[in-house]
This record gives sequence, structure tokens and C-alpha cells, in this order.
Amino acid sequence: MSFLEYAPAPESRAIVALRPSYGLFIDGQWVDGHGEAFSTISPASEEKLAEIATADEHDVDLAVAAARRAYDRTWSRMSGADRGKYLFRIARLVQERARELAVAESLDNGKPIKESRDVDVPLVAAWFFYYAGWADKLDYAGLGANPRALGVAAQIIPWNFPLMMLAWKIAPALAAGNTVVLKPAETTPLTALLFAEIVQQAELPPGVVNIVTGAGPTGQALVRHPGVDKVAFTGSTAVGREIAKTVAGTHKKVTLELGGKAANIVFDDAPIDQAVEGIVNGIFFNQGHVCCAGSRLLVQENVHEEVVERLKQRMATLRLGDPLDKNTDIGAINSREQLDRIRALSDIGEQEGAERWSAPCEIPENGFWFAPTIFDNVSTSSTIAREEIFGPVLSVLTFRTPAEAITKANNTPYGLSAGIWSDKGSKILAVADKLRAGVVWANTFNRFDPASPFGGYKESGYGREGGRHGLAAYLKGESGAGATALVPAERSASQKRRRAGGAV
Ligand code: NAP
Ligand code: MG
Repeated sequence: MSFLEYAPAPESRAIVALRPSYGLFIDGQWVDGHGEAFSTISPASEEKLAEIATADEHDVDLAVAAARRAYDRTWSRMSGADRGKYLFRIARLVQERARELAVAESLDNGKPIKESRDVDVPLVAAWFFYYAGWADKLDYAGLGANPRALGVAAQIIPWNFPLMMLAWKIAPALAAGNTVVLKPAETTPLTALLFAEIVQQAELPPGVVNIVTGAGPTGQALVRHPGVDKVAFTGSTAVGREIAKTVAGTHKKVTLELGGKAANIVFDDAPIDQAVEGIVNGIFFNQGHVCCAGSRLLVQENVHEEVVERLKQRMATLRLGDPLDKNTDIGAINSREQLDRIRALSDIGEQEGAERWSAPCEIPENGFWFAPTIFDNVSTSSTIAREEIFGPVLSVLTFRTPAEAITKANNTPYGLSAGIWSDKGSKILAVADKLRAGVVWANTFNRFDPASPFGGYKESGYGREGGRHGLAAYLKGESGAGATALVPAERSASQKRRRAGGAV
């Protein structure tokens, strides 16, 4: 129990007017789906929020055909400056409807309103503003002479940052002149459907953005569709692998943003209080449903006890509960399925001998919840040191020298992100250069900016989202797209250097 008690401060739901049921958004119209409709629920209360249509193969076909027509007849013929105007309009509408979008996101996903309001939705607007600015400058982006769009992009996104992942996908695709068919995750379709309303408000030409809801099979139909020129996927490595197989040998370009098991490295010369905040932000932000979460804490042996002690103290102050309460730090786990997975992996952690500690908190009666948890004395071979848990669970390992920290950090099939905490700039730069991770944060964690490319090494996927690199993934031309758009090693090293230098 914290020494300070907070009265409830719930955000009002009244700002969101959800319809009882939603169809598919195809060719600028709401249409019925031919698959079996399903419900989306609030994971905090298990209350049904709305009935959602399922797109079957036929519906996916209609959506791809609409996107093709829009591409051929209007979007590919429009000037970059005009495309940019639409994107600016979308960005402004997102800002205007920010509060509504944040509440809808917290209802459907279970994340704290503090995060949807202050992180997700502002970044959604920022992504559209950023790529709006690129739309008329593609010829000057160093992407080859006369870069051209790929055509129709199929985009499939996960449930952890529903609207933000949509923005990461749609903004660069449209700026580069592609049209899109996007499938949100089954458990979090609402903000994508509200976004469809924004597309209508912005008077985008029909068919430029199509939203098809449904589960895995809808995604499969979209990936397989011969009319698709590009597949952009964010999700699990298992599904990513399946998609790579499906598109192999076709003309389709592909980018995959997959899982991670990031190391957050704390050296003994780090400012410990700041590092503790960074560890908390690294693993408990968004209930740990973050692909780049700092889920492996590597702490230098001589400060291990102090760090773990202070971390526990800090964790005991985290407030778990109603996602719509403005005081809430830890919201609901997105689904029962995910909760079961977190529980199963945590039990394995215990069986394998790691020391489990959970923050004392009251678990609400309904809904899906998991108290913030750390496992101390985890060995490198332990399951919870290797597998992505995708929940509020931190594995703590120790090291003695920077070389050992680097070896342990890189000892993973993933390579999406990493964090370094140290007072010494030269140490940060030297270590960052040796980490096989797409993003390295120094004395901070989980910072995102539309101008900064994001993506992984190894099983974390390929291709980059964000920045100029994010455009390359949607353009034909010299520095082409898809699998060939990997950031050259030298460039990523110099980017890391710049970032470590203080940009993030
Ligand atoms: P997932 O099961 O791979 O699902 C991702 C999306 O793909 C969902 O829309 C899903 O639909 C759809 N899908 C499922 N099976 C499919 C198939 N066979 N063909 C085409 N689409 C299919 O992943 P998740 O459990 O939702 O998300 C968690 C994972 O995403 C974690 O591993 C996390 O690390 C990763 N992630 C990565 C990033 C990144 O940028 N690298 C960002 C966020 C998350 P349904 O959900 O409707 O079934
Ligand atoms: Mg839901």
C-alpha cells in the first residue's frame, strides 16, 4: 500500500460514441462482411464493446480491387503535394479527436489512459505530420531517381499499439503513393474503425484506405491475394515466418517487424534512480506488451542488490487497475490468451529456479490482470531469458565486465532494441556499436520519433519503419523496398552513435 492514497480519477467514456456493430470499410463505404461477426471486449471488464464484421476471401478481394482502382485512377496520378495535403488533414483530425481515440484505445486494449493519451495518440498524429511532409519531396530523399510507389499494400498489425501501428503502416505508404488494405488485430479493431471515419472526414478518394477486420484467416487471405504488391506485417515471429514463406517467389515486397527480447544494461556508474525509472518504463510500459520492451535486465554484479532493492520499492508504488483512471500505471492484459501465456512462462521461470517477486497489488475481480513481476537470478539458458513473454515480467541477470554484458545482450535470436545506462559517454558509444539491435537507447528507454528508423536484426524481422528508411520500404527504385531495404551495417552503427549522443 502506498503512503499516498489516490481518489479515483476516471476519464469519461461519454466522448466515445461506439456503434453497436461495425462493418468493413471498403471503397469509402461501410459494407457487411461475409464471415461470421465477432465481439470485441474490454479486457479490463470483459464487457462487450461492439460487434465486428469478419472479412472472408471474397471481401478481401473487394478491398484489394478497390485499392487497385484507387491506385490506378487517382492516387498514383496525384501530385505528392496533394497527397501531402490529405495526410496533413488526417493528422489534424487525429489531433481534434485525440481524446476520443485515447479513450477508445484504452477501452479496447486495456492500456492506461495516461499512455494512450500522452504517448500513442500524439505519436499517431506525429507520424502523419512527418510523412505528410515527405510526400512532395520523394525525389530529394536520396532514394534514387524518380522513385515510384509499389501499388497496393497489404498491412497487418498486432494488438499492442493498435492505432499507432496503423499510423506506422498507413502514413509512409500513402506518402509514397501506395493505396492500402489494412487488417487490425481481432482483439483491438475499434480505433482502426474510428480511423476509417477520419478517412471519410478527410474526404480521401474512395479505396485509398480500406480496413478489413477479422482474425488470422483474414490476414492469410490478404497476404495470399495476387493483387497485392507489398506486405507489411508487425506481429509474432511465427506468423512472420509463415508470411515470408507465402510471399517467397512472388513479386510481392515484404517488411516484417517481429518480436524481441531486449537487454537493458545497467552499469555500476549509472545514476541508479534514473536507471530504475528506465527499467520500469522499459518493461512495465503498456503492461510489457511491447516488442522492444527491456525484458532482460543485465545489471553489473556490484550494484545488483542495490538496483533490485530499489526496483522493488518502486514497483510497489505502481498502481494497477481501471485503464480509464488517470492514476493507473498498469492496465489490463489484452486477452485471456495472452494472460495464460504470461502465466505459463512465469511458472516455467519458477520451475527453472529463478526467484520470483511480484508487486503487492489488488487484482480486480473481472478482466485479465497480471501484477508487475521480476525474476531474479535468472540464468542465460533459462526459458524466461530467451523467450519473449510479452507481459509485465522482467528477468534479471548479472555481468561483471562490459564484454560480458555485450555477449549476454547479443545472446538471443532477436535483435530489435537495447538500452544502456552509464554515466560515461565513451562507454555507451563503445557498447552501442557492438550490440546487434536495431535501436539502442542510452540513459532512456522506449522513446519513439517518426524521424528515427525502427526495426530489427535476426528474428526480429527485416526492413525499417520510420524516417526516410520507412519510405524506401514503399518505393521502387534504387534503394528499393522490402527485403533489400535493410539498413547497411555501417549506417546503423553511425545512427547508433548519433542516438547515443543524446538525440533520444
Ligand atoms: P500475431 O499473432 O503474429 O498477430 C499479428 C497480426 O497478424 C494480427 O492482426 C493477427 O490477426 C494476424 N495474423 C495471425 N495469423 C496470421 C496469418 N497466418 N497470416 C496473416 N496474418 C495473421 O502477433 P500478436 O500476438 O498479435 O502480437 C504480438 C507479437 O507482435 C509479439 O511477438 C511482438 O513482439 C510482436 N510485435 C512486434 C512489433 C515490432 O515492431 N517489431 C510491434 C508490436 C508487436 P489476429 O490477431 O486477429 O488473429
Ligand atoms: Mg478488445
